[in-house]
Amino acid sequence: MGSTLLAKVWDLHTVRRLPTGQTQLFIGLHLVHEVTSPQAFDMLRLRGRGVAFPERTFATADHIVPTDGQPRPFADDMAEQMLAALERNCREFGVPLFGLGSDDQGIVHVISPELGLTQPGMTIACGDSHTSTHGAFGAVAFGIGTSQVRDVLASQCLAMDPLKVRRIAVDGALARGVYAKDVILAIIRTLGVQGGVGFAYEYAGPVVDRMTMDERMTLCNMSIEGGARAGYVNPDETTLAYLQGRRFAPDGEAFDRAAAWWRSIASDPDAAYDDEVAIDGGALQPMVTWGTNPGQSAGVGERVPQPSDIADVERSAIADALAYMGLEPGRPLAGTRVDVAFIGSCTNGRLSDLQEAARVVRGRRIAPHVRGLVVPGSKRVHDAAVREGLHDVFREAGFEWRQAGCSMCLAMNPDRLEGRELCASSSNRNFKGRQGSPTGRTLLMSPAMVAAAAVAGEVTDVRRLLQGPETS
Ligand code: SF4
Repeated sequence: MGSTLLAKVWDLHTVRRLPTGQTQLFIGLHLVHEVTSPQAFDMLRLRGRGVAFPERTFATADHIVPTDGQPRPFADDMAEQMLAALERNCREFGVPLFGLGSDDQGIVHVISPELGLTQPGMTIACGDSHTSTHGAFGAVAFGIGTSQVRDVLASQCLAMDPLKVRRIAVDGALARGVYAKDVILAIIRTLGVQGGVGFAYEYAGPVVDRMTMDERMTLCNMSIEGGARAGYVNPDETTLAYLQGRRFAPDGEAFDRAAAWWRSIASDPDAAYDDEVAIDGGALQPMVTWGTNPGQSAGVGERVPQPSDIADVERSAIADALAYMGLEPGRPLAGTRVDVAFIGSCTNGRLSDLQEAARVVRGRRIAPHVRGLVVPGSKRVHDAAVREGLHDVFREAGFEWRQAGCSMCLAMNPDRLEGRELCASSSNRNFKGRQGSPTGRTLLMSPAMVAAAAVAGEVTDVRRLLQGPETS
């Protein structure tokens, strides 16, 4: 019987089994940002400890940075203090920082793959839930809290509960206008937001095999929204081609040696799984959330659910979500008026996301009542988009074109919803108040669907608006 990638990587990184039943895992790469690290560094200072492996630790600034100009000090004193603390801590503890002004700055889950830091077979930790993104490379990647950030800084190890593996095969082929975001929203809708608790998700099947690395990152990014502790795709030739030539990837013969090892850590064909699920990719349509968690979604051609049609256990949660969202039960999702359109985040702030959205808006204007923001996931994405003229496409359509950062995904910066605004968003969480206003509302969808909603002024099927040759 063969092994899964998770089992192989887990065994290779096991320091010891703990009396609690947990495993002490060595962490190959620790990614740090300004929000979850200040207290962790303070705790090291208090105990007189250093960073155990500064050469395996990299920092950037993303959550709190303003995206409409970044003069220092920031207008928000708290944000300024957080960034100043990160800069001081990185200097004092010898951690490389891709800070403001650096060509390598951006959202932590966007820059690490860009730089070739994220590699197959690694264990990766970061104080952000969406660290699962890095699983796209065949890494085993966990989001951690501040006390675990301290532990990894001090010891490069984490105490982890064992995980089961669920293989999710996405069969068939996606229709035009259906993207990785739609696949993961459909998976979470099918399996539930708690369905992955205790599992790592292994994504496979012909649809995943054909995905680019950007698309695989979108897929793995939202594993955590389905309750899974991690999500991954087995490394293949697409993975290797992406990594070749990146700054921190091995090169020359070292790359060839690494590539042989990377291929070997993929799940074996006869690996046994704790669970297996198949999703018909060909049956998927563009997805939109209608509720207050990412599992509460439907195809754009479907209707907002009627609580009275739902089983008792879920009925009150659905009624509560619909009351918050102000959506009328039973009415079509398409036609829901939106106030804000946000394209960005670690889920969908990569160059290919901006390219797909630009295909929708090119030569069009966004509706007069819509405030549109395009926020590249990294400085590198920003600059590449500018070189292609995408910034002009978005600006001419009426979008604001911003600097790299988390922006309105989390609104720990000036980009936020106001009052009851309803936002078509390419981010990953539609929780109550997530985008900055305690009463703000979020509809999750693909970047192309956000672009279409911005143009139409309401939720609409992007397939009506796609221009140019098929690319996905
Ligand atoms: S874009 Fe959102 S989910 Fe991603 S790192 Fe930033 S705040 Fe976290």
